[in-house]
Amino acid sequence: MSTSDDGRPADAATPQPEADGTATTGATTGVTTTGVTTKESPAASGGGAGGDVLLEVDGLGKHFPVTAGLLRRQVAAVKAVDGVSFSVRRGQTLGLVGESGCGKTTTGRMIMRLLDPSFGTITFDGHDITSMSQKRMRPLRRDIQMIFQDPYSSLNPRQTVGAIVGAAFRLQKIDTPQGVKKAVQELLELVGLNPEHYNRYPHEFSGGQRQRIGIARTLALKPKLIVADEPVSALDVSVQAQVVNLLEDLQNELDLTYVVIAHDLSVVRHISDRVAVMYLGKIVEIGDRDDLYGRPMHPYTNALLSAVPIPDPSQREGRERIRLQGDVPSPLDPPPACRFHTRCWKAQDICKQVEPPLVELSPGHQAACHFPENTTISATDLVAAQSAATAKTDQAAPQDGAVPKPAEGDD
Ligand code: SF4
Repeated sequence: MSTSDDGRPADAATPQPEADGTATTGATTGVTTTGVTTKESPAASGGGAGGDVLLEVDGLGKHFPVTAGLLRRQVAAVKAVDGVSFSVRRGQTLGLVGESGCGKTTTGRMIMRLLDPSFGTITFDGHDITSMSQKRMRPLRRDIQMIFQDPYSSLNPRQTVGAIVGAAFRLQKIDTPQGVKKAVQELLELVGLNPEHYNRYPHEFSGGQRQRIGIARTLALKPKLIVADEPVSALDVSVQAQVVNLLEDLQNELDLTYVVIAHDLSVVRHISDRVAVMYLGKIVEIGDRDDLYGRPMHPYTNALLSAVPIPDPSQREGRERIRLQGDVPSPLDPPPACRFHTRCWKAQDICKQVEPPLVELSPGHQAACHFPENTTISATDLVAAQSAATAKTDQAAPQDGAVPKPAEGDD
């Protein structure tokens, strides 16, 4: 194979063998690359036509200090999230996927401001909330709500459903013209629960029903954005579909915007408009759902998709399962350059020396790889795009451990 100066194959566009017979069906045909840009454009980043951007995350990172000694000096940092950027349009859903420890939950918690970012910015509905004080965040908290993973531990067992769901109205001092009870009962009905169960306790409900109670509580304040952290992973498979369908119905009815964090690619595929794949604190690929599942460009995405079970036996034939070797490296000391190179079957010298930035390889579809799959982009265009992206990132590079500046007027 001929190579370019940096050791890359001369034809980076050569389609690679498909790893997943189902997920990549037709992946190598009709692929066109109309342009290469180095930054996710607003139109591309939000996914789909219409609607403005509700949430914008730019270069967001979270480094947890590791201290030692009597003086508790910082000796290292766990780089849980290391510079992720994406945006979500109103009324749409972004799915964040990746293995355990990839930083997806930490990203969700930073969006919620349950964790303070180490660097980067979070803009919600036109407000920079990156370092906003709790006092100034309070009115915005109505607009950003969270659905928790565990429907058992996220509900207070000593409170009735009425008290749990009604607490939001009381805490935020929201007027309910017909009373809190009536408002709660309407919410219970909205999520498919019997309003008569207002006085029951959480232990009297099944797992799926408890998750519905959690969703009702989330909806009480009519939020604009909901961050759902593994919303169905603790539920039986038969109940998962009901809850996912409920989330979709509520999104259509109430014009909700979701960030759904999950490790189950089937769930993410079902519910998302756009999908971002994370590995060791970085986004390695982001794109429209059908594009990403049909034409995965990053080897890691390909490996994840190859592990998705296919119910139809006839479609399983010819499918190649990619088994990744080894564990995810420690975020305490991530591998240099491409963080995936220790497990990637395509790794070459350049992968261990130069970090591949996230670049747009087809409209709205970005990947961070020196040897992307399922793309027609030439090696020359890829190098040019990566150089421009790296130059841009270097300009905006955060200082390690930088603390966000207090926002104006904070106290
Ligand atoms: Fe694999 Fe190299 Fe691409 Fe990283 S840059 S994913 S090591 S081919």
